[in-house]
Amino acid sequence: MTIREAVNIIAARFPVELVTDHDNVGLIVGNYDDECKKISMAYELNENVVNEAVKRQVDLLITYHTPLFRPAKSFTTSTSHPNPLVEAARSRLNIFAIHTALDVVRDGLNFDLAARLGMKHLRFLSPLKDTLYKLVVFAPETHADQVRHAMAQAGAGKIGNYLECSFSVNGVGTFVPNDSASPFVGESGKLDHVEETKIEMVVEKHRLRGVLNAMSAVHPYEEVAYDLYPLKNEAVNLGFGVMGDLEPPLATKDFLSHLKETLELEFLKVSNISDRDVRKVALCAGSGYTFYNDAIRSGADIFITGDVKHHDFREAKSCPTVLVDATHQGTERFVTELMYRLIEKLFKGKVEVESIGQRLENALVF
Ligand SMILES: [Zn+2]
Repeated sequence: MTIREAVNIIAARFPVELVTDHDNVGLIVGNYDDECKKISMAYELNENVVNEAVKRQVDLLITYHTPLFRPAKSFTTSTSHPNPLVEAARSRLNIFAIHTALDVVRDGLNFDLAARLGMKHLRFLSPLKDTLYKLVVFAPETHADQVRHAMAQAGAGKIGNYLECSFSVNGVGTFVPNDSASPFVGESGKLDHVEETKIEMVVEKHRLRGVLNAMSAVHPYEEVAYDLYPLKNEAVNLGFGVMGDLEPPLATKDFLSHLKETLELEFLKVSNISDRDVRKVALCAGSGYTFYNDAIRSGADIFITGDVKHHDFREAKSCPTVLVDATHQGTERFVTELMYRLIEKLFKGKVEVESIGQRLENALVF
């Protein structure tokens, strides 16, 4: 397949389009028309990762962090200061950044970490808004199942853990084909009545194009009649952060020890060590302090993230929701493993998928 086809497969699974307003995700360097025979992944781009990917003849390298976040004025490289993006482009290595498109899905980074910590009844801490449409299509009764099935296969009708959700009602459709029409039923210039089924399904914004294409491909009408409504519902399948319950609850100290052990960290930064048991846990991997207020509102006993600032800790001292900084990289410790698992499943039998083991680069301690 081509890089474009591979990118389209990833974008239909992870909502790249939805997060592009605040994050630089998608194909960052490359040629959409290149052939894609091997996909690999890494936490973030550096000189060693580029060299390793080139050595392994990788065509598409998926990085978690985007390698191009701030606007750049130039792209230059030298032997003493190689620029990994320029080196990748020179070696025809295509780079795709996934970042928040992976964070916001139900089986993404935050849900994976929550499951590793033993949290139960997982739900989004901050569901995305304005990402849902209601698609209503009118099909002849004889073709209703076929149209409904094609839409579901393209990703319509997903509500939480329920797939292929739809509502249908039968009625009568009317139309008059004009002289230029080639109608599936009826004659030009004559009013026709057809037994039709009205099918309603929800569709997430990033799946809309694929669902409309799938619907049109199997619908028998020359002009497919459909309505598309933007919904005000919060997304059920997309959001930032995660909330979950501990069963049985743990003393704060015991939970913090469990967290340290799971993330293989030597220390955590904590706003206060409360006497209360931890029943509800909220977390957002990476730099997720922005979601601390959502955690407080949701009644979480503890909120885990990375990159918490000094003054944020000071303010949190008097707050019932314990604030924990488990470091940016600590909370993202398992992300490459997760990316491999999800991407390999996506391309199984189509493209070879492997992962580049990467030594993470921490700031040095002096
Ligand atoms: Zn990060």
